[in-house]
Amino acid sequence: MSTGTLVLRSARVVTPEGIRPAAVTVTGGTITAVRPYEEAPPPGAAVTDLGDDALLPGLVDTHVHVNDPGRTAWEGFRTATRAAAAGGVTTLLDMPLNSIPPTTTVAHLRVKQGVARPAAHVDVGFWGGALPSNTADLRPLHDAGVFGFKAFLSPSGVDEFPALAPGDLEAAAARIAELDGLLIVHAEDPARLERAPQRGGPRYADFLASRPRAAENEAVDRLVSVSRRLGTRVHILHLSSSDALPAIAAAKADGVPVTAETCPHFLTLTAEEVPDGATEFKCCPPIREAANQDALWAALADGTLDCVVSDHSPCTTDLKVPDFGAAWGGISSLQLGLPAVWTAARRRGHTLADVARWMSTGPAALAGLRRKGAVEPGRDADFTVLDPEAAFTVDPAALHHRNHVTAYAGRTFRGVVRSTWLRGRRIAHDGALTEPPAGLLLERQRSA
Ligand SMILES: [Zn+2]
Repeated sequence: MSTGTLVLRSARVVTPEGIRPAAVTVTGGTITAVRPYEEAPPPGAAVTDLGDDALLPGLVDTHVHVNDPGRTAWEGFRTATRAAAAGGVTTLLDMPLNSIPPTTTVAHLRVKQGVARPAAHVDVGFWGGALPSNTADLRPLHDAGVFGFKAFLSPSGVDEFPALAPGDLEAAAARIAELDGLLIVHAEDPARLERAPQRGGPRYADFLASRPRAAENEAVDRLVSVSRRLGTRVHILHLSSSDALPAIAAAKADGVPVTAETCPHFLTLTAEEVPDGATEFKCCPPIREAANQDALWAALADGTLDCVVSDHSPCTTDLKVPDFGAAWGGISSLQLGLPAVWTAARRRGHTLADVARWMSTGPAALAGLRRKGAVEPGRDADFTVLDPEAAFTVDPAALHHRNHVTAYAGRTFRGVVRSTWLRGRRIAHDGALTEPPAGLLLERQRSA
């Protein structure tokens, strides 16, 4: 951690009050002041002038599948956190499945923490998992500092992480409500999926028909009902179906403790443009039509959707066979989320303040990370420095992800991450890591 005082100056500092020229003072890894740009720095301070590059709060990505240990050929804490740092993400929360073991007991959490600790270039926290069999493990996991509990209503894709049947969901939700915990859910209704035509094969239209909007809509209705009846805080993961937005908006208006996220791929890619056989675009729920995407953007603007997080879910190249039924579902985007979202956001008239709210402040609030998510005194000095106008074309081979399959290959984005700062130390510069791993393992913060 830096001991001296540091000042970062920029013509475009993204603060909770808006974007303005400012000088951000950092002492001991914490933001201690945000002052006028031209004000003289404290005596002895090291000053870095960023010019016109924008200074944003470091991004908080609460939806990352690191898969470590157990499926480290897919990703791993070293590669994931290097990609995060290069892409401007300073905090990530790891999903409880696809690693072996999954994060479903305290002993498993300790295994994962042991693997992550020496490898983490950014701060890392953990979600726990809610399985049919582990209701008794939820309180110990909560006490051990997991940020909440992930559950599936439909098959997860891996045998060691079974879905909750309706009765299991009620039991888990009731226990999590007792803890004042957070239940985060992959919301697709299994009966609806079973009734949909499961043709497989290379056609994207067939894949889309196999994961209908109705499956999401019905699952969201059920989760809203659970939250309304039991008082459980429920977060809808990776929302794709815009038809489910009115139910979420209505629940929020009634004070039901429901939140929802969407992902860069739903905001930037459309079903119409996915080539047949291109399973790097396969994820569940799926990328839908352009009109659906417009509605998701509107929901971000009006606050129905709370945040944008990656759902980075990589696999090895051989699992992306050109058959949408057989291929692994997941899109790799940890290092690319910010430029992907910013490129589309600016075209739609949004500002960097909006992007910071969706990709840093919002996810930090979801996870209760009170030291993350804003450029203001008292928060960790975690920053992303972005040249918002510079363009680049995605070269998968240049990414730090362990596997170079990505739906964004060859796309040109606006917004180049110039540097990333963690507690006042520059950890990445122009895509290269500049420090040994110094990320901390985070635990859920207890209520103040
Ligand atoms: Zn996921």
